[in-house]
Amino acid sequence: MNAPKSADIAALFRQRRLPFTEQRRAVYESLRASREHPSAEELYRSLKAKYPSLSLATVYKTLHTLRELGLANLVDTPHAEARYDAITETHHHAICVDCGRIEDVFDAKLDRLRAPRAARGFKVLNHSVHFLGRCARCVDKSAAVLLRRKKS
Ligand code: ZN
Ligand code: MN
Repeated sequence: MNAPKSADIAALFRQRRLPFTEQRRAVYESLRASREHPSAEELYRSLKAKYPSLSLATVYKTLHTLRELGLANLVDTPHAEARYDAITETHHHAICVDCGRIEDVFDAKLDRLRAPRAARGFKVLNHSVHFLGRCARCVDKSAAVLLRRKKS
């Protein structure tokens, strides 16, 4: 995964007539450093201490611009809150329906999936497979609850 250099991103932002401020850089760097597919709120909360003047609106605007520039994607989740991903190469996700955890799934076989006949005439640009289920932590938690119920 080769991420673009900060200088290149600054140029891309300038083309959009947006200064690549320290705050906007911090939003991007922190999204790129995260494997959690954070929401705008989560990014905002994680940066607020270091950048007290940062607003949630700036985080949203930055994420919007990053998406337009192809530097970030939205993850398609069944949950209402938008979640962001700085990995823009084809990959897939396992999504926990309980806690909302989103894990990356890298699988060459899934990358090679072809659209079925039903989608003929449809020009596929990209695809991403989403596995919905429960993460290991939530499975353990529900097993523990069941166990406790049995005991009492
Ligand atoms: Zn979970
Ligand atoms: Mn991802």
